[in-house]
Amino acid sequence: MHCPFCRNPDSRVVDSRTSDDGSTIRRRRQCPSCNRRFTTVETASLSVVKRSGATEPFSREKIAGGVRKACQGRPVSEDDLALLAQKVEETLRSAGSAEIDAYEIGLAILGPLRELDEVAYLRFASVYQAFDSLEDFEAAITVLRAEHEAEADDEVAPAADEPPRDAVSHD
Ligand SMILES: [Zn+2]
Repeated sequence: MHCPFCRNPDSRVVDSRTSDDGSTIRRRRQCPSCNRRFTTVETASLSVVKRSGATEPFSREKIAGGVRKACQGRPVSEDDLALLAQKVEETLRSAGSAEIDAYEIGLAILGPLRELDEVAYLRFASVYQAFDSLEDFEAAITVLRAEHEAEADDEVAPAADEPPRDAVSHD
């Protein structure tokens, strides 16, 4: 990149430091023309395309903020929110695209939020998926119920393989 002072097209890296979480690298650079120093920060690009078409950098804090509203009065801590925002970022980054649609962020939130708190999930889904009738809530709750029952079946199944207690001999 150009030197910000004299626009010289070349610069020399004099120091590189990776941030504690490994997500950014700061480089101290020196311009060979004017000898002044400046810093650049390198991150893997991830920007959000809003409905208006404008883009903004992805922000975990914004994810946590959006979900926090749905979690009011629920047993969800700030740590839970931070972890959820981290999972969402990992999901979006793993898709490999540098630009993501705001709608995809909502989708990426739904999965981990459902694991965290189902009431908050229903609240969030009702806004995000624009539920406009009781039937929409019913349908979403039916899906949750069906999955609870499937999980319960999975938990019962292995127990059936154990021998009945009275079959164990004590001779
Ligand atoms: Zn310069």
